[in-house]
Amino acid sequence: MSFNSLGLSDALLKAITQKGYTTPSPIQQKAIPPILEGKDVLASAQTGTGKTAGFTLPILQILSQGKQLSHRPIRALILTPTRELAAQILANIKEYSEFLDLNSAVIFGGVNQKPQVAQLRQGVDILVATPGRLIDLQNQGLITLSKVEILVLDEADRMLDMGFLRDIERVMKVLPPKRQNLMFSATFSRDIKKLAMGILNHPVQVEATPENTTVDAIIQKVFPSAKEKKTELVIKLITEGDWKQILVFTRTKQGANKLTESMISAGIKAAAIHGNKGQGARTKALAGFKNGSITALVATDIAARGLDIPLLPHVINFELPNIPEDYVHRIGRTGRAGANGEAISLFSPDETVFLRDIEKLIGIKLPKEQIKGFEPDPNASTEPIKQGQGRPQRQSAPRKPKPEAGGRTSNNSFGPRRPSNNNDRRSSK
Ligand code: AMP
Repeated sequence: MSFNSLGLSDALLKAITQKGYTTPSPIQQKAIPPILEGKDVLASAQTGTGKTAGFTLPILQILSQGKQLSHRPIRALILTPTRELAAQILANIKEYSEFLDLNSAVIFGGVNQKPQVAQLRQGVDILVATPGRLIDLQNQGLITLSKVEILVLDEADRMLDMGFLRDIERVMKVLPPKRQNLMFSATFSRDIKKLAMGILNHPVQVEATPENTTVDAIIQKVFPSAKEKKTELVIKLITEGDWKQILVFTRTKQGANKLTESMISAGIKAAAIHGNKGQGARTKALAGFKNGSITALVATDIAARGLDIPLLPHVINFELPNIPEDYVHRIGRTGRAGANGEAISLFSPDETVFLRDIEKLIGIKLPKEQIKGFEPDPNASTEPIKQGQGRPQRQSAPRKPKPEAGGRTSNNSFGPRRPSNNNDRRSSK
C-alpha cells in the first residue's frame, strides 16, 4: 500500500516524501482511512509504530479542507502525557504541515507560560498539550476550546498511569459535545476501556497488529550481580565494550542521579533524565544523547516514555522494572527501524520476583551470564524491594495483575518490536 492510495492531499504527500517515508506503517494504513471519514477511532499502538503520523496526517487533511475562521480558534486538540512527547508531536506536525496554511503550537508545564499564551493569542489551529498546563491556562481563561472539532488522547494508558484522569475529565467538560475523538493506547485495561466508552462514539477499532515474532532481533542478556556492585559493572560494560550510545534505566530518580554521577566520575559522558529535571535540562540531555556528546542517558521509565531515539544499540536495565510491561517498553528502545540491538539487565537477588514476572510476560527464559567478580552473595535475600521504593513517579494506584495475561514481545514490518498483548498486566507489587 502507498501513501497515495490513502487519499491524502498533494500537500501532505509532498511533506511525506520530503520526510523520506515510502510506505505507510500498519497503524497508518488502518487508522488514516476511518479518521478521514470522520469516524471516532480507538487504536492500539505505541510509540515507534508511526502512530503520530497515523493521526496527524488525516487531522491536517481534515482541517485544511474545512472552513478556516480568521481568528483561528483551536480546532484540533492533542492531549499527551509528557512534555517530550508533546514537543515531538508538534515537531512532526510542523514537518507534515509545511505545505499547508495551518498553525500549530504546544503547551506543557515546567516552563514559563507567557510565550505559550502569546502564541495562543496569535491563533492556533492545532494544539498539542499536556493535561496539567491545559487545565491551568483554561482556568485562567487564557484558552478557548469551544471550537475543537477533533480530540486526540495519545498514550491514554500513560496519562492514566500518571494520574491525569481528573484533568482529562475536566477538559472533556469544556469541549463541544459534537466532535471527532481519537484515542491511542498501548494497553487496554479496564480503566482505559471505561475512559474510551465515556469519550468515544461508536469507534472503529484498529490495531498495529505486529507479526508475532520472537525477540530474535534483540539480544537479551541477564547479568546477575551483587546489588552494591551494579554501578561498577555498568561502567565496566560501557568502557570495556567502548559503547557509544546507551540508554540506562533506573527505577528511581535518585538512583538515576547517583548512577549518572558515578559514571561521570568514571569518565563516561552521562546525563540523567527524569521528572525532577527542569525542561531545559531534559531537552539538553536528549539533544546531547542524539548528537553523540552524551554517551549514556540515564532515565526513569516515565521520563523515557515517548522519546524518539532512533537506532539505539544498547539498553541497560540497571534495575529491573517492577512492572513487567515496562521491560518490554524499555527493550523496544533498541534496534529501532529494523536494526539489531542489545538489552542487558543487571539482576540482583532482590529482583527475583521481577525477573520471574518479566519472563512470564514475554514467554521466554532470559539467558543469564555471570561476569566474574560480580557474583551475588548466594545467601542474599530474594525479597523484593519494598513498596513505595519501586515506582515513586506513579501518582495513581498501580493496577491489579490479571492472571490470564501473557504474551511475548513482537516485531512489525515497520520497525521496532512491540508487545503484542493488549492485556493489562501491571503488577501490584
Ligand atoms: P511514532 O510512533 O509516531 O513515534 O514514530 C516513530 C518513528 O517513525 C518516527 O521517527 C517517525 O518519524 C517515523 N515514521 C513514521 N511513519 C513512518 C513511515 N511511514 N515510514 C518510515 N518512518 C516513519
